[in-house]
Amino acid sequence: MRILVVGGGGREHALCWAIAGSPLCDKLYCAPGNAGIAREAECVSIAAENIPAIVEFAQREAIDFVVVGPETPLVLGLVDRLTEAGIESFGPTGPAAALEGSKAFMKDLCAKYGIPTAGYGRFTEPAAAKAFIRQKGAPIVVKADGLAAGKGVIIAETTAEAETAVDDMLTAGQFGEAGAEVVIEEFLQGEEASFFALVDGETALPLASAQDHKRAFDGDMGPNTGGMGAYSPAPAVTDAVAAEVMRKIIEPTVAAMRTEGRPFKGVLYAGLMLTVEGPKLLEYNVRFGDPECQVLCARLMSDLLPALIATHDGLLKNFHLRWLDKAALTVVMAAKGYPDSYQRGSTIRGLDRAAALSDVLLFHAGTKAGPNGAVLADGGRVLGVTATGATIAAAQARAYEAVDLIDWPQGFCRRDIGWRAING
Ligand code: AMP
Repeated sequence: MRILVVGGGGREHALCWAIAGSPLCDKLYCAPGNAGIAREAECVSIAAENIPAIVEFAQREAIDFVVVGPETPLVLGLVDRLTEAGIESFGPTGPAAALEGSKAFMKDLCAKYGIPTAGYGRFTEPAAAKAFIRQKGAPIVVKADGLAAGKGVIIAETTAEAETAVDDMLTAGQFGEAGAEVVIEEFLQGEEASFFALVDGETALPLASAQDHKRAFDGDMGPNTGGMGAYSPAPAVTDAVAAEVMRKIIEPTVAAMRTEGRPFKGVLYAGLMLTVEGPKLLEYNVRFGDPECQVLCARLMSDLLPALIATHDGLLKNFHLRWLDKAALTVVMAAKGYPDSYQRGSTIRGLDRAAALSDVLLFHAGTKAGPNGAVLADGGRVLGVTATGATIAAAQARAYEAVDLIDWPQGFCRRDIGWRAING
């Protein structure tokens, strides 16, 4: 098969690494890819959001199957346009991707079908939004409706802070169209957990559990980021929790999306709060998490590609995935300054040394090739250093051993990835 992966981050490097190892894959392309992905796939310089150019490339190169990594092209309807062109792909249609693309849609769906989530209101008028905030009190959560690259969620400690967030989004247009409507919701308490399942429109097949760290600094402090590390399995997601999440959240969502005429195919990623009343849905993502995808690919023993194809074909019912009976842990190395402003173009050394350690996988998130084989930083999150081990602690030790072999003064990473799982 001729395969095209869309995207150019650590998630896509992990996907390309897994797909390149499949006996079904004859030729692998990635658009746009990065310097690490170029070892697994032929990179083509088309942006992931350039829908017409991706469709045209897939037609011209007779691609058999497209795997879409990031959310933006999904929400923009890449899968719909590929289907019209007769090309099969992995990922939800635009209308189904609204589960991530519109928080208001997701909340209304949960309300209509009794899926547990935080109480909420949706608003386009600042006055009504502020009245709701004053009525509910703080802490309270203000969210931009649309995609805002992880920045559209404000956890307000005071009603004044929440009202400022409303002004920023609805009046000042901080997130543009994505913030033209806001969802204001109840603040939930508990431990956060993620849950991933492949969904073929009808059947949901849970993946191994995984948990990320969203905050920039040690101790889960500092600003929210795209994710500074991850580990699998996630001890918080016990078999009992997983069963409850499937029964109360994932399966009702899959059924609801069918009823709504938006059958969901792809990977459904639920962000959960494990509250005293049971798991509640914080958000849906309609693609693999990054860096969670890196730990999942490191633990997946089965061939990933047939699973992605079965998801498209509606054949997950009797599908089985085998997972390595070990832990995996990813440490993200980011450019200093991330998630705010940072420099591109610094040289990273020691990558081959780090990758040569046993039980270590090095995925690139934001790199480009420099002169004479140099690897240059080209993004906020730049590398994902993944290791496997008998326990999360062992995987963590090995991952940091690899990190310490990488010579990149302009980068930083957290030193405590996995701490919650390790400390119990
Ligand atoms: P989201 O993008 O909706 O997952 O929100 C980003 C982060 O904000 C989550 O990972 C949580 O840490 C936090 N968060 C979102 N909604 C709530 C809520 N209703 N209560 C408490 N924390 C929340």
